[in-house]
Amino acid sequence: MAPQVLTVLGSTGSIGVSTLDVVARHPERFRVYALTGATQLDKLHAQCLTFAPRYAVVLDESAADTLRASLLASGSETEVLCGESALEAVASDPAVTMVMAAIVGAAGMKPTLAAARAGKRVLLANKETLVLAGRLFMDEVVRCGATLLPIDSEHNAIFQVLPRPYREEPYAGSLRGAGVKRILLTASGGPFRTRPLETLAQVTPEEAVKHPNWSMGRKISVDSASMMNKGLEVIEAHWLFNAGVDDIAVVVHPQSIVHSMVEYVDGSVLAQLGAPDMRTPIAYGMAYPERVESGVTSLDLFSVGRLDFEAPDFARFPCLRLAFDALRAGGAATAVLNAANEVAVAAFLDRRLGYAGIPALIEAVLADCVGQVHANSIDTLMEADGLARERSQAWLSRH
Ligand code: NAD
Ligand code: MG
Repeated sequence: MAPQVLTVLGSTGSIGVSTLDVVARHPERFRVYALTGATQLDKLHAQCLTFAPRYAVVLDESAADTLRASLLASGSETEVLCGESALEAVASDPAVTMVMAAIVGAAGMKPTLAAARAGKRVLLANKETLVLAGRLFMDEVVRCGATLLPIDSEHNAIFQVLPRPYREEPYAGSLRGAGVKRILLTASGGPFRTRPLETLAQVTPEEAVKHPNWSMGRKISVDSASMMNKGLEVIEAHWLFNAGVDDIAVVVHPQSIVHSMVEYVDGSVLAQLGAPDMRTPIAYGMAYPERVESGVTSLDLFSVGRLDFEAPDFARFPCLRLAFDALRAGGAATAVLNAANEVAVAAFLDRRLGYAGIPALIEAVLADCVGQVHANSIDTLMEADGLARERSQAWLSRH
């Protein structure tokens, strides 16, 4: 069997590093074509020496010069490119069979879309692509015959327990037609699930990025603390599985062992369980429909001991409510939600905004942008994204 030829968009991040860990375990199956990163050039340099990709892509000329010089000095033959068009080129090159979309935020949308348009196997970690442009992205996946495999652990779990014909072509049928009653999307509840409500205003970035079960990038860690991450994942599930907003229920499960469930009309509930380690969904997506060793330790149910479940608390986690509201509003509302959240989280991490300011900013910007944004093309969605960022900055300067 010919090896899969892989581009890793965002190879220096948490998902990127886990992806390369799986690649290294199966050199006969996977070959790296391109690696990309926005910062941490030393890490990208080291990855280039280990995996010898044809290309490495960075964001600007000065980073490209630095990396080029260091690679040359190490005797590497990797060619260094830069800019958004280079990201799109390495995601869509005919030599590539598979693209890991692991850039964080809306910045990941265009290269991920390029991979879908080129009909690649798209391993989708970048959930923001679906929050920003869900309908258009799914249309392109179907139109261009791309294979979409969800890497987000919950969506990967749901994919694993859905009937195969449905999960591979959700838009050819309906959830009900596949015998599904509901999708049960599990959430850990993050680090603030039980913290006294009156102390939430004093939360620091250090506390917010300390997730109890998962080790992840800073943005998604803050999203997990606010439960905006679960809100983004409801939107992601809506598009990935052709599911109505009322077909998706959020279930808080603090141990993060059940990665999500599907309830069928006959009363069966199927779940996927495992240790909280992203190499499981990554290896699943990379080898699909086969299974390969991922390096993840075996799940020890005796040491886990118990699995708890509770209802989500919308008062404690207003971001979750905002995400449901935006999905119900439809159109470009989720693009606005996503952009406002990115600005709010960056400001929070920079200590320019308090924790309680995150939902306050998003709610104000959603109300501000309503009626002015449209979702009929990628360009109008990018305009919605831009307008929401502008309004978010204006809100920040007033508060
Ligand atoms: P991260 O911050 O660790 O890594 C992000 C990567 O994107 C890095 O390689 C970075 O250099 C690159 N990048 C950042 N800004 C960029 C820009 N403007 N242009 C191009 N590249 C840029 O993030 P992560 O935790 O690996 O998450 C990546 C994506 O996967 C996110 O969309 C996240 O929601 C999703 N995800 C992550 C996890 C996880 O466990 N980390 C789980 C589920 C989903
Ligand atoms: Mg997730």
